[in-house]
Amino acid sequence: MRNWFKHLFGKKQDHFARLDSRAFPHFAPGSVWLVGAGPGDPGLMSLHAFYALGQADVIVYDALVGEEILTYANPRAELHYAGKRGGKPSPKQNDISLKLIEWAKQNKRVLRLKGGDPFMFGRGGEESETLHNAGVKFRIVPGITAGIGGLAYAGIPATHRDTNQAVIFLTGHDETGNVPQAVDWHAVATAAPVIVMYMAVKHLPSIAQKLVEGGRNPQDKVGIVSNATLPHQSLMVTQLGEAGEFVQQNEVPTPAIVVVGPVVDYAKILNWQDKD
Ligand code: SAH
Repeated sequence: MRNWFKHLFGKKQDHFARLDSRAFPHFAPGSVWLVGAGPGDPGLMSLHAFYALGQADVIVYDALVGEEILTYANPRAELHYAGKRGGKPSPKQNDISLKLIEWAKQNKRVLRLKGGDPFMFGRGGEESETLHNAGVKFRIVPGITAGIGGLAYAGIPATHRDTNQAVIFLTGHDETGNVPQAVDWHAVATAAPVIVMYMAVKHLPSIAQKLVEGGRNPQDKVGIVSNATLPHQSLMVTQLGEAGEFVQQNEVPTPAIVVVGPVVDYAKILNWQDKD
């Protein structure tokens, strides 16, 4: 990875120094960048994300930001963890936003680093809204979301011309931690051949049941990709009608993406990581 950047940006100079600032938007002191770090593999970060890591004065990162990604941080940056740790509850969303504003007002370059894409079940919308309301300048750097990039690392295409012309992205729990009440399960069950679910392992028994009751075929394949793009990635495969029992009887590592539909079968031939 580091060698690759050296190759790209010049062999002799350190790649941080060689990143040509003309190619990147200026990370202005007093602004906040809300950046997606991708699902874990540092190679899936964007160049904007990489640049921001090198420039930031303060970095606030979530639980799902891969450890290795932080090794690319400016060594002088202050690092703040904003996830759950040691059984303690996670900092309140509003507290995080207020801290971001405070640091920005101290004229710092603030990097808010999130797993995957900040706008995909990542609360990036709420945080940037708060920044907007506080008059703080911000930039959004999209990231590769686990529900697409994570599946790709298991050889599962989110779409394939032969199987699906539509995909549904769904969260397995809402802000109360329960199965989302606002979802029209009947509609979701039949609207698209492929359903990609985030945060869905815990409530999979009830979600799978709702989908079957809504008219989904219980024989539909279900793929569960855990720790996608990381060295300990794993894929488990079951069927919708058995998925609830499956997660109750097996230790399913998290984070995990759950995908329902015919694309799961492609893993058998497209699982490039297991190929020599
Ligand atoms: N913004 C993130 C999603 C945050 S919600 C994104 O775009 O990817 C958190 C959920 O994302 C987890 O519960 C899990 O379902 C999924 N997730 C994130 N990283 C993952 C990974 N490396 N492997 C599998 N699932 C992952």
